[in-house]
Amino acid sequence: MTAIRGRGDLRASAVDVVCNDSRVARLRNSRLPGADRSAAILIGGGLIALLAGLAIIRLFLWSDGVPAPAEVTLSDVFDTEALAADRDFRRPIRALAVAAAFIPLIAGIALIAFSRRIASLLDRASALPTAAAGVVIGAGLAAAIGVVRLPVGALINERLRDGGVVRRGTGSWALDALQGIGVQVVVFAVAIGGLSLAVRYLPRAWPAAVAGGLIAIAVAVAFVSPLVIQPLFENTRPVEDAALAAEIRELADLAGVDVSEVVVNDAASRSRTFNARVEGIGATRRVVLFDTLIDEGDREQLRWTVAHELAHEKHRHIAKGLTGYTLMMIPLTLLAAGMVALLTGSGPGRPDRLTALRRTAIAAGAIVVLITVSAPIQNGVSRAYEAEADWTALQITDEPLAAIRARAASRSRARSDPDPPRALHLWFGSHPTHRERVGLALRDLETS
Ligand SMILES: [Zn+2]
Repeated sequence: MTAIRGRGDLRASAVDVVCNDSRVARLRNSRLPGADRSAAILIGGGLIALLAGLAIIRLFLWSDGVPAPAEVTLSDVFDTEALAADRDFRRPIRALAVAAAFIPLIAGIALIAFSRRIASLLDRASALPTAAAGVVIGAGLAAAIGVVRLPVGALINERLRDGGVVRRGTGSWALDALQGIGVQVVVFAVAIGGLSLAVRYLPRAWPAAVAGGLIAIAVAVAFVSPLVIQPLFENTRPVEDAALAAEIRELADLAGVDVSEVVVNDAASRSRTFNARVEGIGATRRVVLFDTLIDEGDREQLRWTVAHELAHEKHRHIAKGLTGYTLMMIPLTLLAAGMVALLTGSGPGRPDRLTALRRTAIAAGAIVVLITVSAPIQNGVSRAYEAEADWTALQITDEPLAAIRARAASRSRARSDPDPPRALHLWFGSHPTHRERVGLALRDLETS
């Protein structure tokens, strides 16, 4: 028994071992079938890679030197009456947003559960090459997620508009949402079309090809999206106020970030949110100001928001985030491959078309599920970077009281809860809470 265990045979204990004479037969019976063994190796390897990835992120890609936020008495900073009303306002929106966030999870599970039926349906359409069948799976998945989410998103938009947080009516909102679904359908179709080819023609190496593809998509989205995707949803023009542009360049100098131009977009037609972003790399790097910030905010608010965005750039949060994402995609594809091996076996050689399509559906479903359930990891990293950007912006501007006023103004315009339920915050919160952000500014006030 122990000898068998020593050879790493996981199922040995399930086999009835009676006497030494039957040793050979026993070994044969107790050996894991090939599929189960490679599934165990892939899942085990995936879990080890996950732990290693998390350790590397925590040790080398985390924020640095950000103190713990000071204690905050909410009524000192925010209007208590407005807070109570805004909490009531946010509660149903939060429930809808949580529901919307789990739609991909359900779609992914359904794709795995019905993989056999979907694959045989597509396989029967014999005129369809493997890649085209993969494209159909991808487009169908993205369209299903998008269409089910649509009414939930419309309800959220409706309520935000009633509450004065956004400006768009359902029609204009739906137009943008449909465009977003269109982009998603194209991305999923290409990605899962590629996945189907990899699964069919690289029977052993496809997880590596898929990890490479997922990383390439993320890099493309990070660097191409400002140039190609963003213009679909907004228009930008150079900022007219020369003094303002000079002030922003001065902040960029303080942050040590090179900026080629300062532009303003047309966010006001859609939203009341104050925001800005820094986009592009090298010579194309520019600051985009939301016109809400210029037309409806004050200079303090604007300086604070831009300093925060410049701080992200200073700390290379996009590059660090992509590195962390890469580290997470490796375990993710190993786990997805483990799931494929578990459900379809992993016979040697090239799978037939039907098997390849079934594996494609399972792998795609598993990747969607794993990305959805890894949201707390992504958001944990994001919150660390946001806190670091806040802290650095406080050092750049040296105006902690302005930061607190800006935070209070942002909160009241977005009517957000400064203190959302802890579990939801840990799962969904991409930024520290308003309470924590004010606490950080207070800490700066204490120490400066
Ligand atoms: Zn930020």
